[in-house]
Amino acid sequence: MAKQEDKFKSVISHAKEYGYVFQSSEIYDGLSAVYDYAQNGVELKKNIREYWWKAMVQMNENIVGLDSAIFMHPTTWKASGHVDAFSDPLIDNKDSKKRYRADVLIEDYVGKLDTKIEKEVKKAAKRFGDSFDKTQFLETNPRVLGYKEKGNAILKRMGQSLEKEDLADVKALIEELGIACPLSGSKNWTDVKQFNLMFGTKLGASAESAMDLYLRPETAQGIFVNFLNVQKTGRMKIPFGIAQTGKAFRNEIVARQFIFRMREFEQMEMQFFIKPGTQQEWYKHWKDARLKWHLSLGMGEDNYRFHDHEKLAHYADAAADIEFRFPFGFKELEGIHSRTDFDLKAHEEHSGKKLQFFDHEENKSYVPYVLETSIGLDRMFLAVFSNSLQEEELENGTARTVLKLPSVLAPTKAAILPLVKKDGLPEVARKIVEDLKWDFAVSYDEKDAVGRRYRRQDANGTPFCITVDHDTLEDNSVTIRHRDTMEQKRVPISELKSIIEEEVSMKNWLLRM
Ligand code: ATP
Repeated sequence: MAKQEDKFKSVISHAKEYGYVFQSSEIYDGLSAVYDYAQNGVELKKNIREYWWKAMVQMNENIVGLDSAIFMHPTTWKASGHVDAFSDPLIDNKDSKKRYRADVLIEDYVGKLDTKIEKEVKKAAKRFGDSFDKTQFLETNPRVLGYKEKGNAILKRMGQSLEKEDLADVKALIEELGIACPLSGSKNWTDVKQFNLMFGTKLGASAESAMDLYLRPETAQGIFVNFLNVQKTGRMKIPFGIAQTGKAFRNEIVARQFIFRMREFEQMEMQFFIKPGTQQEWYKHWKDARLKWHLSLGMGEDNYRFHDHEKLAHYADAAADIEFRFPFGFKELEGIHSRTDFDLKAHEEHSGKKLQFFDHEENKSYVPYVLETSIGLDRMFLAVFSNSLQEEELENGTARTVLKLPSVLAPTKAAILPLVKKDGLPEVARKIVEDLKWDFAVSYDEKDAVGRRYRRQDANGTPFCITVDHDTLEDNSVTIRHRDTMEQKRVPISELKSIIEEEVSMKNWLLRM
């Protein structure tokens, strides 16, 4: 646990030190759970967004984009169920005065059982060596089965109690499991209460005539209310999708995990409109497709897992999360939800407008079903950033900090370094920067010894360093150094563009899907 916490702390401080993420309004001591993206962070974030957008919109003929407003007519949120049901169950610890989400306390307890299972697997793998069969072990080992059964029973009971709004039983469950306040160790809990997460604001010039509005808590509703506009003007045929990225706002009760849970964050959502009855097939399709997108980034298959929901939201008939191994354990990164016709029907009812599709093949109109994929851009940023940050022991006994970002996402693709600040080397290096900057984000760095500059670029996540030395003046070749292998090669300046392109092009990365 201490190791995990240390790792997380080093992620947060590295993000600040290298210009990725700053606390918002830091000079005023910050604002809780609100963050700013700095000069490198904004590039990484933009690249992740683009990687998603390309895979979703550009690569799929039947998916189009949208950028709907953050403010929406207030009835939207009545129809969507957010006014009545968008709340989290919260519980306070009477001694530490800290507030928690009751469901998260219980899920964390179950998470600890998962960690115990992982430990059993590690022990057994050591004991049995090459003959170890992990799948068989997970299916047959009595201790593992016991942990699994216990975890499932807890989640099931919690799901049922939340479904029935039986908050007294949620509290009873916390007490029966002996869950203590993670900060104080106290088990002195208040009752569980529901808390609505939407931020309210007002539109209008005077207090009397002002209209109550909400900052959108998800981008999805902007897609639903535009369903017919897009379908008609884009002549879209079912099945088709609408994708959008944008800010969402939630007054999160517990927001202590850096950019994992923020009050202002960005979502990347896609709503896929389908024929009723085909939802299972599309649910499977999108679960598969989204996992492949994640795996294409090469961050390790073991770091992902699906978690099927026990408690379904009021709109869903099936839902799963893609969970990622963050520094604080496996947590939700993306949701895939089969939303039925709940949203479009609700908007039909509240607006009095038909939101239907006329199916020429079947010669009838229907309200489409919806399959949603919804990922937090900031959470994806944290997944990429935390997984990439590594401390490496080198052969010569020294260590280096390296940010092994997937090169397709790295803010700077190459740094161009003159070996010394004289003899015409800076001029040649500047010329290379001028040539490459049309195609890639590149930087120029001449300060300090070249070894220190390599380390700085490693920590910054730059995949390539290109060094101009005295030989360059003779033969127009440079040394190109690879961040991950630290391998250095002599190449002609004229080949730089194709070498970098090969490694960082979105096409090459997306082809791995
Ligand atoms: P959680 O259970 O962690 O609160 P959720 O199930 O409420 O998340 P969804 O409503 O399904 O999340 O939102 C879709 C995605 O948006 C999530 O998978 C997550 O990546 C992202 N997300 C949700 N809330 C936040 C937040 N407060 N900060 C950052 N990202 C968020």
